[in-house]
Parts: sequence; C-alpha cells; structure tokens
Amino acid sequence: MLVVFIGPPGAGKGTQAKRLREHLAVPHISTGELMRNVESSQTDLGNQVGAFLRRGELVPDDLAIEIVEQRIGQSDCENGCLFDGFPRTVAQAIQFDDCLTNKEKSLNLALALSVTRPELMSRLSARGRRDDNPETIANRLDVYDSHTLPLLAYYEQRGILANVDGTGSEDEVFERIKQVIDRDLTETS
Ligand code: ADP
Repeated sequence: MLVVFIGPPGAGKGTQAKRLREHLAVPHISTGELMRNVESSQTDLGNQVGAFLRRGELVPDDLAIEIVEQRIGQSDCENGCLFDGFPRTVAQAIQFDDCLTNKEKSLNLALALSVTRPELMSRLSARGRRDDNPETIANRLDVYDSHTLPLLAYYEQRGILANVDGTGSEDEVFERIKQVIDRDLTETS
C-alpha cells in the first residue's frame, strides 16, 4: 500500500506515520529526515540543502524528487511505503505519479491531517527542533498554505483524498487514521 501524509508542520504526520508503519508493515519515509541527513553530510549539496532548511523554504522540486526516487527504488519499498512530507507541491505530485506509473504502481491514499494554526504554533514551539524557531515556523506555515494546500484539491479530484481531524490525543488521531485505512483496504481488496 502506498500512502502519503499531507499536513502542516506540527500536524503530527511523523508521529502518526511511525504508528501506521507498524500497522501496515511498510517503511516510513520522511523527506524532512532525508533532507536533514543530506544536510549533515557536509558536502556542497548538504550546504545548499541546509540553507533552505534554515530559512524554512522548500528545497527545489527536482532535488526532492531525485531524493525520493532513489529511496523508493530500494527493495524494502517493494510492497509499498508511507510518505511523510512528500509531495509538498503539485509539481512534485505530478512527477511522483509519473514515476509510479513507470514502475506500474499507483498511490492508494492521500491522508490530510488538519490542525488549527494556533495549535500548530504551540506544538512547534514546544518541540524545539533546529528549524523550530518562531520566524522559521511562521515561514513554514505560510509555505504550507501557498504551496502544499493546493495538493488537497489535486488528490480530491483523483478520488484518493481522506481528511482526518488531527486534534486530540495521539491515540484518538491514530484511531481515526486506522478507520480510513481499514475502510480503504476493504474497498480495494
Ligand atoms: P515540517 O513538516 O515540520 O516542516 P519536515 O521534517 O517534514 O518538517 O520538513 C523540514 C524541511 O525539509 C522543510 O521545511 C523543507 O525545507 C524540507 N523538505 C521536506 N520535504 C520536502 C519536500 N517534499 N520538498 C521540498 N522540501 C522539503
């Protein structure tokens, strides 16, 4: 099963994707983590990527796609995987669909987690990752609204979008996600 998690920074994509990984027994791919690994490699590419991360900007689409293509080519992704933080633009989604079509695969589900902005601000301020300072947070939320939100319409049109309320405890949110997943598995089996 191939699933993408969509949601603003702080919505809980990473936390929920890790839980869903256990439930579905497929790998979890966080592009933010992949980018932070590239950054810490201390190569020219790492320095370039680091500059985007520190500003809270997206790394260019071509680079994001290249990193993802490399990752899903690995054998552990043969039976599917969960993406968290990818795609983040409609251009990435279109290229991703092409890439999957070439591999005779297709995306099963886009899970959109929604949380209000004040709640996101307080969650992110409490988290304290290097790019979780107030200016970078505000920029990442704006970038989400301008670049990533249009993805919801894209996946809605394809009939694979599921909206999930991301407020409440981790357990409550996971229960909502499991309901969507199990319904989807029943429909497609
Ligand atoms: P968050 O969702 O909290 O912003 P992530 O770990 O998903 O955290 O992403 C951190 C940063 O990594 C983003 O601000 C962006 O710079 C970069 N990034 C992650 N995924 C992508 C992607 N698909 N396209 C472009 N940039 C990305």
